[in-house]
Amino acid sequence: MPPRLAWRAAELAGIDNETATARTLRFRVPGWPGHLAGQHVDVRLTADDGYTAQRSYSLAAPADGDLIELTVEAFPDGEVSPYLTEVIEVGDQVEVRGPVGGWFVWRPESKAPVLLVGGGSGIVPLMAMIRARRQAGSRVPFRLVYSLRDQDRRYYAEELRRPDPGLDVTYLYTRSAPPETSRPAARIMLDDLAESGWPATFEPDCYVCGPTGFVEAAADLLVALGHAPERIRTERFGPTGGS
Ligand SMILES: Cc1cc2nc3c(=O)[nH]c(=O)nc-3n(C[C@H](O)[C@H](O)[C@H](O)COP(=O)(O)OP(=O)(O)OC[C@H]3O[C@@H](n4cnc5c(N)ncnc54)[C@H](O)[C@@H]3O)c2cc1C
Repeated sequence: MPPRLAWRAAELAGIDNETATARTLRFRVPGWPGHLAGQHVDVRLTADDGYTAQRSYSLAAPADGDLIELTVEAFPDGEVSPYLTEVIEVGDQVEVRGPVGGWFVWRPESKAPVLLVGGGSGIVPLMAMIRARRQAGSRVPFRLVYSLRDQDRRYYAEELRRPDPGLDVTYLYTRSAPPETSRPAARIMLDDLAESGWPATFEPDCYVCGPTGFVEAAADLLVALGHAPERIRTERFGPTGGS
């Protein structure tokens, strides 16, 4: 079996709370082969009676040796995400398989401007791209358009506030907008991408990630603005895995 398809032991080495419902988990995976920004892993849990469940999670950052980082949002009635966001403790073990995916990736040697469009936890692989750009010292201009319910749902809030030359960040709130913003709370619209994205004439590489409905809406808006479909890469965070 190719090594990336083999299950590997992963020990939880650290936890950060992103929001009231999302946590970033750092796992130590001996023998981790490295990965590209945008790829994901499959995580497998095994209960004492041998019952297993697996789900896909995007890698949130470039690999740091054998340490990998995931950010998981809790689905209250879910099977796997409540365990990862509420139960697992440092020192506990799961299994991971990957890295998976070769299309929804950003490579540091790429020279095209980049437009990242994320909805909710769809920010995770886009953040990996932002971090990979910074780590590589790339000067490629990036724009991030991040759609989320309200301010309390922001992942990586402090890091995205810090100056990062060449990176522009725009928040779009869908349920409740902070008083200092002029845009009323609403789902992503044509004007949002026209104002905060790149013009299609710049020929940016576009990466769109989030729940399926969000991804389809945002990709349609990009096409309507004249972006070439082959420059629009999408990742849908629909239900995954099985038991
Ligand atoms: C490539 C890929 C990468 C992903 N990366 C991340 C990530 O970085 N962070 C993250 O938090 N999640 C990510 N997901 C989603 C993740 O795989 C799980 O679907 C999610 O954690 C729910 O799993 P669960 O076992 O808790 O819920 P389940 O037990 O699978 O489902 C519980 C209920 O929620 C519904 N449901 C499950 N998942 C979703 C969903 N994503 N959208 C809408 N309804 C859903 C189910 O239909 C069911 O009704 C990714 C999905 C894909 C395909």
